[in-house]
Amino acid sequence: MLDTNPIPKRPRVIIVGGGFAGVNAAKSLAELPVEITLIDRRNHHTFQPLLYQVALAVLSPADIAQPIRGILRKQKNARVLMDELVGIDTAAHQVELATGACLDFDYLVLATGATHSYFGKDEWAKFAPGLKTIEDATEIRRRVLLAFELAERQMIEKGWHPQLNFVVIGGGPTGVELAGAICDIAQLYMKRDFRQIDPSRSKVMLIEGSPRVLGAYPAVLSAKAEKELTRLGVLVRTGVHVTDIGPGWVKIGDQQIDSVVTLWAAGVQASPVGKMLGATTGVKLDNRGCVIVNQTLHPPELPNIFVLGDLAHYEENGKRVPGVAQPAMQMGDHIGKIIAADLTSRPRPPFHYFNKGDLATIGRMDAVANISWPFHAKLSGFVAWVTWLVVHIFFLVGFRNRLAVFATWVWTYMTFTRSARLITGDQSLIGWTEYKANLKGKS
Ligand SMILES: Cc1cc2nc3c(=O)[nH]c(=O)nc-3n(C[C@H](O)[C@H](O)[C@H](O)COP(=O)(O)OP(=O)(O)OC[C@H]3O[C@@H](n4cnc5c(N)ncnc54)[C@H](O)[C@@H]3O)c2cc1C
Repeated sequence: MLDTNPIPKRPRVIIVGGGFAGVNAAKSLAELPVEITLIDRRNHHTFQPLLYQVALAVLSPADIAQPIRGILRKQKNARVLMDELVGIDTAAHQVELATGACLDFDYLVLATGATHSYFGKDEWAKFAPGLKTIEDATEIRRRVLLAFELAERQMIEKGWHPQLNFVVIGGGPTGVELAGAICDIAQLYMKRDFRQIDPSRSKVMLIEGSPRVLGAYPAVLSAKAEKELTRLGVLVRTGVHVTDIGPGWVKIGDQQIDSVVTLWAAGVQASPVGKMLGATTGVKLDNRGCVIVNQTLHPPELPNIFVLGDLAHYEENGKRVPGVAQPAMQMGDHIGKIIAADLTSRPRPPFHYFNKGDLATIGRMDAVANISWPFHAKLSGFVAWVTWLVVHIFFLVGFRNRLAVFATWVWTYMTFTRSARLITGDQSLIGWTEYKANLKGKS
């Protein structure tokens, strides 16, 4: 067992998850007399809102990720442990880690985020990867870039190649951003580098089950986003549900759609840590496995176990605070106030979410923004896109990353080149053989 108690008098705070919520929670405790251990199964914090730019070869992984040790290097009361939480013993106040270590805690902060949900059809995952981690982004990049390479090779070998159809499932911000970015890369960037095929003839379809894309945004911004996607060349299909996914195809009802690369942006569920806590303690979970917390960010029966960010189901004015970056950061910030109150025997201050608005890009130089602070506005087009750029640069962790991302954006947008277009790993594309066979004679 690890020695976890070097300074016994200081409360031990274990934070699990080095995402927005976990990192902010650790920082909020910097000035308090506590011993923090931040545990993450990865050694880096990922800025998820820019993952799609890694997936579509604008940015490199290191531009949007930062070693957690580096983030907390100067914080003397914090240590970082790369490991995975596999068990919680609330009676013994201990967490169990994948490596076998058990650590004692006085406070436990669970901030393990969310993961993809294939609505019970996990077999779809290999045909339609989702986007959540750096590994997901590089796998999507590999598939998309490989599709163009294989078409070029096929053209040289056989004198024909199948039309390249990409299908993105899910019309939330991630799906909209992915669909717009695939159009961009095909029409503006790839077409300059290939000689045998014309990448700009590729097709992109975005499938959304509800009646409109960006369903959480005001209807006027959804309509603008759909119009702009259509202008870019994305075929938007709303109000339809995917019924099956296989190698080189997607089904809507009985209709089979050929798809050289299928991407999943349709569903999320809480990290399994929610169910783990529910199973051992009986705390209430919502239908996505998120832990229901009160205004001091813990399940009512477990006052020293806080649940933050995407893993938490927290309601204000009868509505669930959304699983996006701002609430996660604000919840993290609030942990410092709660523990400071405990240490000075004051009542815990309640958490209030301060909604500043939502932003989503739609390809090059276009975006929608539903701003609630410092003024109320519904923006679209170039102004929204500039707002998006400024906000994302501002919230990126690390000065080097801000500089690198800013420089890469300027270079990319001015020169129409994408230097992160690397195909790494396996050189084969799942479903390519079936896709080619289905489209033989059609192209
Ligand atoms: C592709 C994409 C685009 C997005 N775009 C936007 C956007 O534009 N704007 C916006 O506001 N929000 C956006 N979001 C949502 C936002 O990123 C999340 O709401 C936010 O990251 C949640 O923060 P979190 O700290 O709760 O979880 P996360 O940031 O997901 O961090 C969870 C951490 O926990 C770790 N972990 C998980 N399980 C374990 C375990 N068992 N043991 C140890 N460590 C574990 C993970 O490795 C991870 O580091 C996007 C999300 C994605 C996936």
